[in-house]
Amino acid sequence: MQTIKPGLTTLSDALDIAFAEVGIVQDVEQRPLDDCFGAVLRRDVIAKVAVPSVDNSAMDGYALRFADFANMTGAIDVIGSSMAGHPFEGTLPKGKAIRIATGAAIPNGADCVIIQENVSANADETIIEIRDDVIARTQLAQNIRRSGEDIKQGTVVLSSGRVLRPQDIAIAAGQGLGTLAVARPLSVAVFSTGDELAKPGDPLPPGGIYDSNRFAMIGMLRNIGCKVTDLGLLTDDFDVLRDALDSAAKTHDVIMTSGGVSVGRADLLKPVVDQLGEIHAWKLAIKPGKPLMRGKIGDCLVLGLPGNPVSVLVAGLLFAMPLLRHMMGADRSQTVPVRMPVRAGFDFKRGTGRREWLRARLVQNEDGAFEAIAFSSTSSGMLSSMVWADGLIEIPEDCGQVVVGDEVFYLPLRGLQ
Ligand code: AMP
Ligand code: MG
Repeated sequence: MQTIKPGLTTLSDALDIAFAEVGIVQDVEQRPLDDCFGAVLRRDVIAKVAVPSVDNSAMDGYALRFADFANMTGAIDVIGSSMAGHPFEGTLPKGKAIRIATGAAIPNGADCVIIQENVSANADETIIEIRDDVIARTQLAQNIRRSGEDIKQGTVVLSSGRVLRPQDIAIAAGQGLGTLAVARPLSVAVFSTGDELAKPGDPLPPGGIYDSNRFAMIGMLRNIGCKVTDLGLLTDDFDVLRDALDSAAKTHDVIMTSGGVSVGRADLLKPVVDQLGEIHAWKLAIKPGKPLMRGKIGDCLVLGLPGNPVSVLVAGLLFAMPLLRHMMGADRSQTVPVRMPVRAGFDFKRGTGRREWLRARLVQNEDGAFEAIAFSSTSSGMLSSMVWADGLIEIPEDCGQVVVGDEVFYLPLRGLQ
């Protein structure tokens, strides 16, 4: 049993609930290949052509008949060539050879390739001789890549729900496809809330802070292929928030905000969403990122992220981005962060009951082994900790202490969306 603080929801329960309730946007678009990086594939890609399409040579050399090797002596005539894009037309006669280049089609009748380094040829490469020891160790099908060895016709080369990486696009290109069926990008309206916030580029009033969260949110959203509308800053005023949310909800799939979801007097987002639609407020058993609001205005999903800059990123990367990827049809496996066990290179003590992510770096110790070190502070207000970090260390709900040498789970930030 995990020890969870009463009244709090675990991140995995929250994700399960949200994944079950938030529908997948059904719109699929046919998009040119070179615009598909990072998009969610929405139809299986089935191989129409085998790769390679014909048997071809893995090396530069000479194509021969293996049966000829049984009584091969002296010179062999080279009666033609097969080059990449220029195959040998016809059939290789018994006792003869054909010059062949890497990737070129194996001529009819040939069933092995001897690399050129193992052959002595005359100046114009019309006659070759093969050393006895090479003849002795030559095997059938040597240096031949078989048709379909990489991809057989009819196999599923890419499954629907995959987030497309360069190699995925490349395999689709290898099938001759010019476009792929991918999810329509979600349209997301973004704004920051807080009377203390100033716009970067403007002068900073006394006691003010610059709005950094909006840029963290926009970056995360663009990273997963959303179409972002930047709605700027909103003051902590009920009417201002209501009007802005009401109008954004009519034209977007999602509204994402930062700040104003705690329980302070200026935290007005929940009452606003409650008036305009429905609200599913949560206190998550996570640190940082505890207050998180999920609501709905009409068909528009509203995600209210916390105000603290580290919380925005952690809740964004571990909750909001996986959920939005799911809305675009990504397979659940594609939304789970990469976690790897590493040794702790730090001591840490805390009260149990929440899952916590420490900002961390992987370093090599004296033995050359990798271990994780943690940032000096766990404050969720210190954005510099996220800039310092290359990953997060996950502290489970029931863990109250880590000592140097313990196994802990490290989540590379590059593995998060
Ligand atoms: P809140 O949840 O609105 O009470 O905000 C929590 C903390 O995060 C406060 O210290 C805010 O000043 C800070 N904060 C809120 N919004 C932003 C923002 N957009 N950029 C930077 N810091 C913020
Ligand atoms: Mg605020």
